[in-house]
Amino acid sequence: MDLTGKVALITGASRGIGKACAVKMAELGANIVVNYSSNQVLAEEVVKHICSMGRKAIAIQADVSDQQEVEAMVEETIRILGSLDILINNAGITKDSLLIRMKEQDWNKVLATNLNSVFFTTKAAVRYMMKKRQGRIINISSVVGIAGNAGQASYAASKAGIIGFSKSVAKELAQRNILVNVIAPGFIQTDMTETLSAQQKEIILSAVPLKRYGSPEDVANLAAFLASEECSYLTGQVIHVDGGMNM
Ligand code: NAD
Repeated sequence: MDLTGKVALITGASRGIGKACAVKMAELGANIVVNYSSNQVLAEEVVKHICSMGRKAIAIQADVSDQQEVEAMVEETIRILGSLDILINNAGITKDSLLIRMKEQDWNKVLATNLNSVFFTTKAAVRYMMKKRQGRIINISSVVGIAGNAGQASYAASKAGIIGFSKSVAKELAQRNILVNVIAPGFIQTDMTETLSAQQKEIILSAVPLKRYGSPEDVANLAAFLASEECSYLTGQVIHVDGGMNM
């Protein structure tokens, strides 16, 4: 797979799955925008690593739940790196609690960060991609958006929303040669899952046929394929990277 000359913007790319996607795309030749919300030090480290591979990379601070900041980020991407070919909507948060205790402000924050963001970034990016008549959009959902999970109603709603959104825009954008696909990771070892208790981890693992947690690279490898020319007849799909958790 070869992404030479492509520009990829990855939201929430200073760590975890986003960082793995950024590094993988760079390995394949792409120039990278590392979006981050607050941790500039980590984002600059990812940029430094990618630049040491001989690629161009910049870090752009933007809260993806803020439409103006997202629009400015997309403009800056095109102004500095000259294009926007691949968008990976990866940024996400959890604010878990049982429904009965779930606060409206937490619900709104999760929906704004995980779902409104995908609307904002996609809308801003496709304005440019439509003119170019090419583009790849990869949205990171979750196994929880498909199967649900007690204590995660807001997160599940946001991740299920990403799937409906992606299928709809995949239909709208296919004639412009813009492919939109969804990755639904299962249990991936990152900071997000680090907060789970040993008991919760054991329960999750017992439901994984492959009997191991996934790595950020397991997700990044699929994202790279979805962004590549080798993937040309696949759009509107939800692909599970979950060790067989959901079949
Ligand atoms: P993570 O917490 O390490 O990464 C999330 C990133 O999003 C962080 O860099 C964070 O700073 C960024 N972010 C949060 N709010 C933001 C905002 N408003 N603007 C910009 N960036 C923001 O966790 P991760 O596991 O790498 O998660 C990446 C994605 O994968 C998330 O969408 C998550 O829901 C999804 N996912 C993760 C797992 C898992 O098991 N780790 C499973 C399924 C789905």
